[in-house]
Amino acid sequence: MSTDNNNNNINEIFGSKVFSDCVMRKRLPKETYKMLKKTINDGEPLEASVASVVANAMKDWAIEMGATHFTHWFQPMTGITAEKHDSFISPTSDGKVIMEFSGKELIKGEPDASSFPSGGLRATFEARGYTAWDPTSYAFVKDNTLYIPTVFCSYSGDALDKKTPLLRSMEALNKAALRILRLFGDNETTRVITTVGPEQEYFLCDKELFLKRKDLIFAGRTLFGAMPPKGQEMEDHYFGSIKPRVSAFMKELDQELWKLGVLAKTKHNEVAPAQHELAPIFTTANIATDHNQLTMELMKKIAEKHGLVCLLHEKPFAGVNGSGKHNNWSISTNTGVNLLEPGDSPKENAQFLTFLCAVIKAVNDYQDLLRVSVASAGNDHRLGANEAPPAIVSIFLGDELTEILDSIVDGTEYNKKSRVNMEIGVDILPKFPRDTTDRNRTSPFAFTGNKFEFRMLGSSFSISGPNFVLNTIVAEVLTQFADRLEGSDDFNKELNKLIKETIKENRKIIFNGNNYSEEWVEEAARRGLLNLASTVDALPHFVDKKNIELFTKHKILTEAEMHSRYEIVLENYCKTLRIEALTMIDMVKKEIIPAVISYTKMVADTLAQKRSLGVDLAGALEPSLLQDLSDLGSKLMKAESRLAEEVAAAGSVSDVLESAKCYRHKVLPAMEDLRKVADTLEGLVGKDFWPFPTYSELLYRV
Ligand code: ADP
Ligand code: MG
Repeated sequence: MSTDNNNNNINEIFGSKVFSDCVMRKRLPKETYKMLKKTINDGEPLEASVASVVANAMKDWAIEMGATHFTHWFQPMTGITAEKHDSFISPTSDGKVIMEFSGKELIKGEPDASSFPSGGLRATFEARGYTAWDPTSYAFVKDNTLYIPTVFCSYSGDALDKKTPLLRSMEALNKAALRILRLFGDNETTRVITTVGPEQEYFLCDKELFLKRKDLIFAGRTLFGAMPPKGQEMEDHYFGSIKPRVSAFMKELDQELWKLGVLAKTKHNEVAPAQHELAPIFTTANIATDHNQLTMELMKKIAEKHGLVCLLHEKPFAGVNGSGKHNNWSISTNTGVNLLEPGDSPKENAQFLTFLCAVIKAVNDYQDLLRVSVASAGNDHRLGANEAPPAIVSIFLGDELTEILDSIVDGTEYNKKSRVNMEIGVDILPKFPRDTTDRNRTSPFAFTGNKFEFRMLGSSFSISGPNFVLNTIVAEVLTQFADRLEGSDDFNKELNKLIKETIKENRKIIFNGNNYSEEWVEEAARRGLLNLASTVDALPHFVDKKNIELFTKHKILTEAEMHSRYEIVLENYCKTLRIEALTMIDMVKKEIIPAVISYTKMVADTLAQKRSLGVDLAGALEPSLLQDLSDLGSKLMKAESRLAEEVAAAGSVSDVLESAKCYRHKVLPAMEDLRKVADTLEGLVGKDFWPFPTYSELLYRV
């Protein structure tokens, strides 16, 4: 009975706060609805008269949902979302108010944007920015406010946000993919869409404990902390039963996400203690991006209601796994065909192989860009640390699909029984069971039967960056393919040649083995694959000539926009490390040193007392303990002052890349050294004296 009620309940609440397609159909005049759909589906500009009808219907609906305010909701380069609330009220001549919302207010907003990062873009133009309605992502009501998804630009039209390049890249991919589909005789498809399902990992920790640690408060991760006796070695947390407090949190999170139309589907415990995951059902790339931002925001907010704090940092705790985000990505037609799914006929398979080869070539040609798209100070702790893919980009295809590709190029037998020697567009692809494709969890970019899973993203990322890169590089290769195929008089022959050549030239990017192994690092070097170990190694490639050509050719970003983004990310890297280093220094001076002194005093007092009582002190523990405390104390002081010097030095370098390198190569090692000494002291100083909660408490208290 109760399950039935629950089911009905879910049906009722799902999307209940969303101005969805079905609400629009119900509330808009037929003509208005039709014109809005044209804008949504085909990108046609919306007429002012239509916009005001939509705005009015939206306002009436939002007020019924309890809204008093509206906000343009946008995604500046800070990585989180931004909003500025205005109420619907408008004064009347009789001293009262009416609720108003115009088409102009729906379409365009002008937030004072001077405090958002612009990487120098806005300084050269005007301080104002504007937001523009993105009708392809639904408006929704949250906290008595109507949220309108928007893009965010400078007054001269430069993109200042994460959404604009994503939308542009979806358009570029659509254009290129349609050309390919037409070559295969598909005249039905009118739009090609990229779909994304991001799996989100996170940690939960007790709020009271959290508030006692400045590192968690300021940096989102622990900067000190000795390993507890038990970590994740027993593997007893993964998919384990969910504790009541966590379960209550997850339940409320699901409910709130469902109301906003987020397809929250799967939840489970992850590998590390206190680590969990939420996966939604996939949707279009831009809605998935909005929904993932909402998911992260609600995770934080709802956790607090349960006396918890949600940590989205990539590496909140040393010694146990960090958190990532798996970006499942595919391409599909508006008629519902997944273009990365092998089909049943020779034609479908030839088409599948064309798209597959395009992705393979794109990943090989633009390894650097994919690596750049996942670079951050936080993610540097994961990539290549034997818990996440290495910094080397490669593709997992699985043995069967790899053998098929090999047989196409080499004319070798694909399988001993049937001696397949594939002729593209003539032969049918041998069926390979989907579940054999996803055994390898170590690959950064894995084909999983009908989609690719990009596994290098950090847990706190906006998924917009990796997806606009992915869309753009695939759009570029599809464009190259289309140029070549359209110019040929024998399509099948040219396609065969193209696919063979593409596989041959890009084979080196395919690797089905263990990506965590030492041998792979060596093998990858032999193959000439890039290994951009850290953020400072990766980022400069963003503005390489070939990449500027790519993004400007497809009108995703201008050269000025690219340079501005590059600066913002580099500056962000420096600021992050600076905050972490200063937090460590503060914790050492204000908390750890006083704790060590009190503990030392207690031990010294005990020793003095024993001495005054005439106790035999031969072999007593106090003198050696005092010696150790004193030795470590002076090491701590030295390590702290070295860190302070390095931070000052890095901060005084004016070139931002050079400064970032100082943080990477000087400040970070000094932080690690300081931590080592402090963690040893933690093991020595009495529990009641240690100034903040330990790993045992943080990881096992929830
Ligand atoms: P797992 O990776 O844990 O084995 P699944 O492979 O079932 O789980 O799916 C993981 C994610 O991939 C889910 O978010 C799912 O919605 C998403 N996904 C499935 N099909 C597609 C697709 N065609 N495009 C994008 N994402 C997809
Ligand atoms: Mg997965």
